[in-house]
Amino acid sequence: MRTGSMRIAEISPAAIRHNVRRIREVTGGAAVIAVIKANGYGHGSLIAAQAAIEGGAELLGVTDLEEALGLRDQGVEAPILCWLHGVNADFDAAIADRIEIGVSHLAQLEAVAAAAARARGTATVQFKVDTGLSRNGAAPVEWAELFARGAELERAGLVRVRGVFSHLANAGEDRDREQAGRFDVAVEMLRAAGCEPELVHLAASAATLTSPHLHYNAVRVGVALFGLSPFAARSSAELGLIPAMTLKSEIVALREVAAGTGVSYGYNHIVQNDTTLALVPIGYADGMPRALNGAGATVAIAGHHCPIVGRIGMDQCIVDLGSLARRVGLGEPVVLFGDPSTGVPPVEVWAELMGTINYEIIVGIGSRVVRVAVDEDPASGPGPSEAPGSAPAPASVERLEIADPDAMHELGRRLGARLAAGDLVILTGPLGAGKTTLARGIGEGLGVRGPVTSPTFVLARTHPSLVGGAPLVHVDAYRLADPAELDDLDLDFEGSVVVAEWGAGMVEERGSWLEIVVERPEGAGAGASGETESYEETLVEPRTVTISGHGSRWAGGAL
Ligand SMILES: *Cc1c(COP(=O)(O)O)cnc(C)c1O
Repeated sequence: MRTGSMRIAEISPAAIRHNVRRIREVTGGAAVIAVIKANGYGHGSLIAAQAAIEGGAELLGVTDLEEALGLRDQGVEAPILCWLHGVNADFDAAIADRIEIGVSHLAQLEAVAAAAARARGTATVQFKVDTGLSRNGAAPVEWAELFARGAELERAGLVRVRGVFSHLANAGEDRDREQAGRFDVAVEMLRAAGCEPELVHLAASAATLTSPHLHYNAVRVGVALFGLSPFAARSSAELGLIPAMTLKSEIVALREVAAGTGVSYGYNHIVQNDTTLALVPIGYADGMPRALNGAGATVAIAGHHCPIVGRIGMDQCIVDLGSLARRVGLGEPVVLFGDPSTGVPPVEVWAELMGTINYEIIVGIGSRVVRVAVDEDPASGPGPSEAPGSAPAPASVERLEIADPDAMHELGRRLGARLAAGDLVILTGPLGAGKTTLARGIGEGLGVRGPVTSPTFVLARTHPSLVGGAPLVHVDAYRLADPAELDDLDLDFEGSVVVAEWGAGMVEERGSWLEIVVERPEGAGAGASGETESYEETLVEPRTVTISGHGSRWAGGAL
């Protein structure tokens, strides 16, 4: 992580991975095309690409060929589709770099075929059809000729028609249905022409989240991937999404001012009472709308919300600290927006004040803002199990205060003594919360060979029983892209006790399981060594442990 930057967009790959899984959960398994155009919606396209693929996305989508080639240059190997081309687009480069080409008209198809012939290769294309947006994509009158030529070129080995897609106008349910009807016609015509598209996709985030009848077998998701809602009236949390970007700066100067003092250009803010102003070095060059001036936006500092006052400059803005001044100093982090479940303002505040959409704010975050991937606990946000209408209520819930590591170990021992072959335990909690201490206790209670350590560097570790009982299989589910990968590990769920760390949302379709959430008080353990687990080494603070039993096995509780 680069240090010293005074403007940072912290990006949570864990949130992006969670959002991909959430999308898959919503669609019931449609392929996910992660749309990471416009520098990953401002999040940084490389961070976004890697996290989306790790989360289980099958394909990356960008608008421009340049963006696609840029991702290849950075070592991204996943399939990439791009669909908006200049008249002189370099399809030779696209074919050389195995970029899938969205084709919108016949001349484009011929240019792609010519490039494929030069390369003595095959170009992978997906037809983009206009079903009512009146933008990019082949118009219905062009379909027959375009598809016939596509089939011919496919037979000649110059192209492979991998997919067909269209984009909705989001003009209401009826309009969506009309567009879907036209799309169905296009897909039929393409098949009749002799092509068999593997990927058929219409929905972007909005239709993905609300309209199962528009899912076909793939969805192209942008804003939801980054944890933001495409709807003005529904929040990220309501949709089970976790915002991935936290825009941060810091206090670089403090000034005590008397009532009557004018603030910033034009003096359009005059201090009402004696107060302390903080200078925050982020401004409209960084994507903070200048018109936020006086609109009532706040920033979060040390858990408090403080108003932005005076005109926003190109490079800096001013915050009125009020009585908070006594508690903060230079270097204090300032959060401009982020995940509201952590107590900071959501980006939607700016969007609403500006009369625009969250999309415009995030893609507008400027290039001086350093994008830093900060991988954190996905369970700290709304997990899939908290999403409305998803997992059923647990059969039992027990909440415990755990004073110190010894008590955590003892709790594990008691649990371990109750566990048997076929039991599944899902353990979530931030780094340093004490999950490994708990798992070690479970191992001791089960009587398995140790040592039980953090599984961070292996996917799964098996500890055989020393007492003729079930082995303990300790899994780091956090590093699995999707539940299918868990299946690939070929774990003996029936014959073992499986403890999966970070496994929420991954392994829950298995009938009965115990979900254990370890939480530590706000800020405790922060500044720990940065090791994977450092509960024992950090200042000991009590933990809250919540044990939820799912399925009839746990109806009577776990303890
Ligand atoms: C941008 C874009 C998307 C993603 O839209 P979201 O609303 O952000 O999910 C999907 N498809 C196409 C063609 C796009 O241009």
